[in-house]
Amino acid sequence: MSVLTVSGLAKSFGGVQALRDVNFTLAAGEILAMIGPNGAGKSTCFNCINGQLRPDLGSVTFAGHELIGLPPRRIWRLGVGRTFQITATFGSMTVAENVQMALISHHRRTRAPWTLATRLHREEALALLDAVGMRDQAERRCSVLAYGDLKRVELAVALAHGPRMLLMDEPTAGMAPKERIALMALTAGIVHDRGISVLFTEHDMDVVFANADRIIVLNRGELIAEGTPAAVRDNPMVQEIYLGAGSMFGAAAAGAHA
Ligand code: ADP
Ligand code: MG
Repeated sequence: MSVLTVSGLAKSFGGVQALRDVNFTLAAGEILAMIGPNGAGKSTCFNCINGQLRPDLGSVTFAGHELIGLPPRRIWRLGVGRTFQITATFGSMTVAENVQMALISHHRRTRAPWTLATRLHREEALALLDAVGMRDQAERRCSVLAYGDLKRVELAVALAHGPRMLLMDEPTAGMAPKERIALMALTAGIVHDRGISVLFTEHDMDVVFANADRIIVLNRGELIAEGTPAAVRDNPMVQEIYLGAGSMFGAAAAGAHA
């Protein structure tokens, strides 16, 4: 069953048609990658879904709610989480405190107030930190963490809000290739376990092919291909776009992750 349905989405900026008639769905628990060259309209599409931008035309429904016209905070409260473009952590607080704070905010919305007393959700925070491989650093301040470790904490913070779907626009930007692969593999494992849907963009095709259940390809504001990683990789139109852009397929194009 689809958790997200995007229909007829269109957005222009002056003379630039950033999105034209974009249609796709995201199933419950599915990891969907949106790929495409710079300027294809990926971030515009994400921002129309998360409420940062209002499209000119189209509809975005999430779990039965029309999102177009809702403010970003409302959309977030419906269970649309975002990582990692906005830094979600407070440097002066410890890793565990950051996750506890997110849990407090989440439970305040969803449960009776008395649950606040349950040791400020410390056990739950530690369990989330365990899931992202950061439990051993729970008492360190976020300001002293390595970049890749901070991303893991941000993932734990996003999970603390109990999202049904995560939007991840270039989640691994600024990371070394090995770290990127590790972060997305970690994310994929966790979201599959919890049945969370993910829509992500990513430039590193090794990361895309290793983790996406399905791929959609955007070019100049239009969806030009959709399918399994293998089908998209073998699509001549996709190959042409990427070869033209200086081949981003790398090892993945040779079937390294097939
Ligand atoms: P991508 O994320 O795929 O690189 P974007 O969605 O950022 O692409 O951009 C799509 C197109 O829309 C580009 O031509 C970009 O210059 C243009 N664009 C995006 N945001 C704005 C904006 N706020 N004002 C004007 N043009 C924009
Ligand atoms: Mg972008």
